[in-house]
Amino acid sequence: MKVLLVYAHPEPASFNGAMKDQIIQTLTRTGHEVTLSDLYAMNWQAAAGPDDFTFRANREVLRLQTEQAHAWRTRTFAPDLAQEVDRLDAADLVIFQFPLWWWSIPAILKGYIDRVFAYGFAYGQGASLSGKKALCCLTTGGPASSFESDTRGTVLHMLRPVHAGVFDFCKMDVLPPFVAYGAARLDDTERKEVLIRMDQYLSQIADTPSLKFD
Ligand SMILES: Cc1cc2nc3c(=O)[nH]c(=O)nc-3n(C[C@H](O)[C@H](O)[C@H](O)COP(=O)(O)OP(=O)(O)OC[C@H]3O[C@@H](n4cnc5c(N)ncnc54)[C@H](O)[C@@H]3O)c2cc1C
Repeated sequence: MKVLLVYAHPEPASFNGAMKDQIIQTLTRTGHEVTLSDLYAMNWQAAAGPDDFTFRANREVLRLQTEQAHAWRTRTFAPDLAQEVDRLDAADLVIFQFPLWWWSIPAILKGYIDRVFAYGFAYGQGASLSGKKALCCLTTGGPASSFESDTRGTVLHMLRPVHAGVFDFCKMDVLPPFVAYGAARLDDTERKEVLIRMDQYLSQIADTPSLKFD
């Protein structure tokens, strides 16, 4: 598979950085082709706005979805955005690697979705990302036990806006997330075990059944 790895952590020596390296190592070893979008290293512009387009359909009033559809049709996205749209268009599997921040994804990654999952390309007007798979790999600060309550919320609850609101909405197949709970509290041996577990999970990724949304 062609894999697009979208990585959102500001520190290369972080555990997220180690998980990103593990993804590249495992998927390359098992015959997949990985393209890395390292958002902080790229100095990714998170806020969607008028600079997303090199040629506007309407220069008077900015209607983001209209301009996104126009830019996709006429290939007039700004260069940084055009590169990521092309990468997503070419991918069979997209992986988001990130730390859980405020029960959600980091803002830089949300901005990636706002800009790259563009109207007319990813959804709307008969568009979809159908046939592509999507996977979230993440770390949490809290231990697994703090994500077991149905009232406070499990990781699946917290990922619902991305899983259901973005991936499933764009008709992608959503794979079960890989979660490294309490990453900063683990000792070195436990962290190594997480990377081994991740290697095993990713080795089977082509055959992993997707989640169902109704
Ligand atoms: C704004 C903000 C909001 C947050 N909100 C939440 C929240 O809502 N819920 C929650 O649970 N947590 C939350 N957190 C905590 C956050 O999720 C954790 O700090 C994060 O997931 C830990 O991952 P990391 O990669 O940043 O860890 P790091 O602290 O970078 O890494 C942990 C340890 O792993 C070590 N390491 C690096 N590479 C390797 C390797 N190859 N092998 C072994 N060890 C290695 C590092 O040296 C470090 O000691 C929040 C944090 C912030 C900043």
